[in-house]
Amino acid sequence: QWIFLNDEYVTKENAKVSVYDHGFLYGDGVFEGIRVYGGNIFRMKEHMERLYNSAKSILLNIPYSEDELTKIIANTIEKNNVEDAYIRVVVSRGIGDLGLDPYKCPKASVVVIVEPLSIFPKELYESGLEIVTVATRRNRPDVLSPKVKSLNYLNNVLVKIEAHLANVSEALMLNDQGYVAEGSADNVFILKNGCFYTPPGYVGALDGITRNAVIDIAQELGYEVKEEPFTRHDVYTADEVFLTGTAAEVIAVVKVDGRTIGDGVPGIHTKKLLAKFRERVVLEGVK
Ligand code: PLP
Repeated sequence: QWIFLNDEYVTKENAKVSVYDHGFLYGDGVFEGIRVYGGNIFRMKEHMERLYNSAKSILLNIPYSEDELTKIIANTIEKNNVEDAYIRVVVSRGIGDLGLDPYKCPKASVVVIVEPLSIFPKELYESGLEIVTVATRRNRPDVLSPKVKSLNYLNNVLVKIEAHLANVSEALMLNDQGYVAEGSADNVFILKNGCFYTPPGYVGALDGITRNAVIDIAQELGYEVKEEPFTRHDVYTADEVFLTGTAAEVIAVVKVDGRTIGDGVPGIHTKKLLAKFRERVVLEGVK
């Protein structure tokens, strides 16, 4: 396995960054998770746009143009000789001193990792997930925008910990007003009376690329989709619930906080979207 690390391709064993890297010391940096399906990178332009916008928002200079980084990612895929994989791009502030000051970090560190990934076992796509809502809150959009996909994932990590403590594999966090925001690393949708709802960005959700692809697909299939805030009650009483993410793709939720959703099995509309999504990812990619 070859990993791109600061202008070099190194083996996994040699892919090491300094303890003075501010990504390690302070979580100072941004990242992307991208998928390649059948050799096609899914929605690469959108991922690059989100990465560069995240970096811009925190005044982090990525030392490559979008085109250069796109080529680096394509080369890393080729070098690893894979057709279907998950790609992790990390850009950290780079090496500085122990102080917080990012201006003492002369050059950002850039890492591209390509590896096979299956986040949830296959059976869970057939049976659906049981999830809970947790005490951890999404950070407020006016403090650090949820649109910034930063290396500060402590609240997302706490969501995962709370999920494990509740003996489930995923959980939803609310925002500070109690509206449902998103999962630990995925967006959430509910279906009620034939209409899909997903929280708008200002509630505190990442502008998910899978989310946006699913909105496109749902609309093409003739569904109405609304970006509206909703509460736990709306989730409990929804006809169908599912999560979307680059790693998770589209996965049904069948139980939330002990309440069974619909018939307790993945709903037909969710299944329809997942099937179309799987079709789409191969067709839509760019080489
Ligand atoms: N929400 C968070 C916090 C995430 O980290 C991710 C994963 O990237 C998502 C949602 C899903 O976004 P996407 O579909 O772009 O992967």
